[in-house]
Amino acid sequence: MHYTGTVYRNPYDPPSPLLEITQGCSHNKCKFCNMYSAVKYNPSPMEWIEEDLAEIASFYPETNRLQLLSADPFALSFKRLDAICDLVHKYLPNIEIMTMAARVDNITDKTVEELKILKDKGILELNIGA
Ligand code: SF4
Repeated sequence: MHYTGTVYRNPYDPPSPLLEITQGCSHNKCKFCNMYSAVKYNPSPMEWIEEDLAEIASFYPETNRLQLLSADPFALSFKRLDAICDLVHKYLPNIEIMTMAARVDNITDKTVEELKILKDKGILELNIGA
């Protein structure tokens, strides 16, 4: 698995595999937070994501839930999130819920139509920090 820097599992989420789709935080400027200060923000390469999905599928082929990392993976563009959703369903056909952390501006930079498409593909829970 490709994990970069701090790996944070949301304590309120039921147990589920963790898939890194971004590294670090797209904002990384909050004065009270140093969780990702040593990590440069980057989208994870699609090849890494595909390798990790194959590994998750080998251990948890029936999983219906997935937590996506890292700090605010919903910062990715609609196009990239849409492609990642398709890859997830290719390797994990039982996935019903994908959950991840998000900043408010990760949501407002997408259209309502784009948000509906991502919801229909299983992105049903966004954890928004203060
Ligand atoms: S957006 Fe979240 S992860 Fe990023 S610096 Fe602020 S508190 Fe930390």
